[in-house]
Amino acid sequence: MSDTVTRLAEIRAAIGRAERDFGREAGSAALVAVSKTKPAEQIIEVLEAGQRVFGENYVQEAKAKWPALKERFPDAELHMIGPLQSNKAREAVELFDVIQSLDRESLAKEIAREIARVGKTPRLFVQVNTGEEAQKGGVLPADTDAFIARCREVHGLAIEGLMCIPPADEPPSPHFGLLAKIAARNGLKGLSMGMSADYEAAIQLGATYVRVGSAIFGARG
Ligand SMILES: *Cc1c(COP(=O)(O)O)cnc(C)c1O
Repeated sequence: MSDTVTRLAEIRAAIGRAERDFGREAGSAALVAVSKTKPAEQIIEVLEAGQRVFGENYVQEAKAKWPALKERFPDAELHMIGPLQSNKAREAVELFDVIQSLDRESLAKEIAREIARVGKTPRLFVQVNTGEEAQKGGVLPADTDAFIARCREVHGLAIEGLMCIPPADEPPSPHFGLLAKIAARNGLKGLSMGMSADYEAAIQLGATYVRVGSAIFGARG
């Protein structure tokens, strides 16, 4: 087994243990294998080991790698987890099965327009800037209820859940707890939270998707 496949197996086992330890149903926290900056050959190893859900951060990079990978593995599911420019909405709707970084009205409008034009509807998560960091994307916690309502009522978008990236220098659990609370009061079941360093804590707090990159693929250069 390659190092990548060994690490994938270890992460899958650790997710299973966390589900058990925290009273979560088996399989209720799905793994998004984050393959940004990683070459197709390494992604193929992970696909051949049975992993089907992947995350990418950049439209251009995903467009270069994934059409060929999807041809070979048609049941692969691709999540957009990086910041999305409105002028890339069409390519994103065409390419991704899930967009996790919906975080502003102009983007909601473009995505709705492209869904109608392309005739394909990606599943959508609203990104919440739980740490209220200036440099980070995401709707502010206080604005999230109103934003979700506008996505639904003004733009006709079905929202599946919420996503967050806690500040790097803070304990993540309060951020995971806040995200879960905002989701619950908006009737949302999907919670995308937790990365290589903290996915177990995220599972404890209800994550339905954990996004793990470097712990599977190795450090990014
Ligand atoms: C890169 C990235 C990840 C994966 O991070 P690791 O620490 O490598 O697991 C998860 N989520 C988002 C939004 C990312 O940009």
